[in-house]
Amino acid sequence: MAEPAPLTACPPWLLEHWQAIFQRHEQGKLPHALLFTGAQGLGKRRFVRFVAESLLCLNCSPATGACGSCDSCAQLTAGAHPEFSTLMPEGASMNIKVDSIRELVNWLQLSAPPGRYRAALIDQADAMNRNAANSLLKTLEEPGERALLILSADRPGDLPATVRSRCQSTVLNVADKSAAINWLAEQGVAGAEDQLAYSRVGPYALLEQSTDVWQESEQRLQKAWKDLFLMRASVGKIVDSLSDLPVRRSLGQFSHWTLLATKMGQNLSVGADHATSELISEVHTGLDSEQWFSLYDRIQQLYRSDSASFKSQTVLEGLFADIRLMTQG
Ligand SMILES: [Zn+2]
Repeated sequence: MAEPAPLTACPPWLLEHWQAIFQRHEQGKLPHALLFTGAQGLGKRRFVRFVAESLLCLNCSPATGACGSCDSCAQLTAGAHPEFSTLMPEGASMNIKVDSIRELVNWLQLSAPPGRYRAALIDQADAMNRNAANSLLKTLEEPGERALLILSADRPGDLPATVRSRCQSTVLNVADKSAAINWLAEQGVAGAEDQLAYSRVGPYALLEQSTDVWQESEQRLQKAWKDLFLMRASVGKIVDSLSDLPVRRSLGQFSHWTLLATKMGQNLSVGADHATSELISEVHTGLDSEQWFSLYDRIQQLYRSDSASFKSQTVLEGLFADIRLMTQG
């Protein structure tokens, strides 16, 4: 049996989203498959767990979700709820495999006790490979009685349209801004209001980004990006300066800056903090508008690639060498 674990709390800025679900639950109009998407660091994983726990609870409320004291809540905190199952990406490839989905689908067909749900969570459902997604389709079409499938995805575009169209999708956002600002301030994040206004990520990611380690790496990435476009150092040196950062982190940041450069090229508002705006205006004349767009596509592709070579610094080397060629051409 698993260790006792407390029930999951709803991230306060997402409470309105729960209240909308609660209402449908009360009206008996809850669809059997729910898909939640939204920015990174918004608390999707916590939220879907909170929703599942709350809907399994025999006495849930719009204000706080699960009651914490009914039979179902006791089973959840004991980590032994017979009507609850979760699935998330695993292994080196961080995929959700077809066998795991098949198992889940069979489990979901079993009947739930009268008046109760049987709930399955799939975290980061966009990590399902094609076969896994296909195995899920049957359940999405003919769900068991009172079966509830709750999915979260960072990149819903990576889910097959056949899966997406069978789920009711909700794009989560910071519905309650002041709740998020208060929470960030309580965690000691300075300038929470500005950060939230300019950021493309959610409060949890903002908290992570406020750490010294993150700030230091951010400055290093800014320097690398500038050095690259302003020809201040060799490609090899620039790659070396980022060697201890996860490639995914570097690519994520470059993808964001490239997107901002395409905006600047179209005279659109960049919508970034002062340091970022300055960085973008310093480098953006290095490429023409078309080149920025194609660079953005390329970095996005690299970022989304799940091949093993993705983790290697050679990805950055190739990318930087090509950018150099473009800026010199
Ligand atoms: Zn309860």
